[in-house]
Amino acid sequence: MSNTAHRALPSVDRLVRAVEEQINGTLPHAEVVQVARMVLDTARRTIAQGEAAPSFDELAGQVRETVARLTQPSLRPLINATGVIVQTNLGRAPLSAAALSAMQAVGRGYSNLEYDLAAGARGSRYHHLTELLARLTGAEAALAVNNNAAAVLLTLTCFCAGKEVIISRGQAVEIGGGFRIPDVLRQSGARLVEVGTTNRTYTHDYAAAITPDTAAILTVHRSNFRVVGFTHEPHEMELHHLAHEAGVLWIDDWGSGSLLRPEHYGLAAEDTIQDRVAAGCDLVCFSGDKLLGGPQAGLIVGAAELIGRLRKHPLLRALRVDKLTIAALEATLLSYLRGRAEEEIPVWQMISAPLESLHSRAVTIVERLRGQGLAAVEARACESAVGGGSLPGATLPGWAVAISALPDPLHARLRGGDPVVVGRIADDRLLLDLRTVLPDQDDALIQALLAALHEESRRS
Ligand SMILES: *Cc1c(COP(=O)(O)O)cnc(C)c1O
Repeated sequence: MSNTAHRALPSVDRLVRAVEEQINGTLPHAEVVQVARMVLDTARRTIAQGEAAPSFDELAGQVRETVARLTQPSLRPLINATGVIVQTNLGRAPLSAAALSAMQAVGRGYSNLEYDLAAGARGSRYHHLTELLARLTGAEAALAVNNNAAAVLLTLTCFCAGKEVIISRGQAVEIGGGFRIPDVLRQSGARLVEVGTTNRTYTHDYAAAITPDTAAILTVHRSNFRVVGFTHEPHEMELHHLAHEAGVLWIDDWGSGSLLRPEHYGLAAEDTIQDRVAAGCDLVCFSGDKLLGGPQAGLIVGAAELIGRLRKHPLLRALRVDKLTIAALEATLLSYLRGRAEEEIPVWQMISAPLESLHSRAVTIVERLRGQGLAAVEARACESAVGGGSLPGATLPGWAVAISALPDPLHARLRGGDPVVVGRIADDRLLLDLRTVLPDQDDALIQALLAALHEESRRS
């Protein structure tokens, strides 16, 4: 260890004074001192390993970077230019203005979360959404929990623990993010009985598996894949009839579950939640933040007697929703009740965005970038996805801003920028798909692009 190298390091005081002149009190003095000590300790260690002493500017830079990282939230908003609407990694559904203002109104003060205003006595948080959900889905009653995984777990634990649950082999699926139907069943204490084959399961397969130990038939939306070709699934009428005759429950995990008809928006036809209820499912579970377009939540709709039993189950206490979720869900559901979902809920605004408006936004952005001297940019037709395990394989035609110069380094810069922009790389181009960029983010997207391009050209 060389003494001269140690002597070359500045004092904590000097380093702190230099940094504090630049950071405008974003962090209290004592915290900056701690960061400076840590940076100097690290420098001492690297010097001890025989490396050269960092310069004063390098050390000050390290302190500044650490301070900046500490004072910036880890969870940050970003511009989703991937074209995947329900993007789980990017926070799934953006919330409607009505949902956001409901959360703010309820969150900034007190509320009647568990208070019966008419009686002036304790009430239940589980009553707030029941009537709206019942009205929208046609079910008798409803319950909201933390997410759809929780909805399925609670339902199976409540009605099937220690008993058998029959499921088609083709539906014992993994959704992603660690949600595997066989694992959830095991966790609930139910025994999985798989019937049929991956591609073909008949009503008589289910019928043959029913024993006095059977609690339920479980059907699961395949969500992230399709089985095509030589396939068979029983008709809903037959399943309903079978479950009813045998006196077992029909529980349905409808995953993304939409209240609107996808086929009205150029997507493949699929049962809505209302369809599943009408088909005779005793309980239908679905997510709040996929095609519903609300906050993270799991919704369970079905017969009042069954929902009543779920409400009394001790596990519910661990899976319950908070007041902000209830506020956002209620506002989101109200948009559906008013028939305004397509205008008010971002997921449906994005799904229904007309191709011409995406095209004209792309052209406008391209012109503005060209106006700044950028040549390698064009408007390009692309395919956007609904995502989130909803409507597997479903794409919508869209328009993107495509940049062909150094797509990967540029993408990295955009991910490190402010605001952060995430796009996708295809055909050696960086594509910024406008379907998932909120229209009021176009200017911010242009600014982020110009800043990233500027940085990139300075370096090269
Ligand atoms: C997405 C999904 C789930 C999990 O829902 P979360 O709300 O993410 O917990 C469960 N089942 C199916 C079929 C799904 O598509």
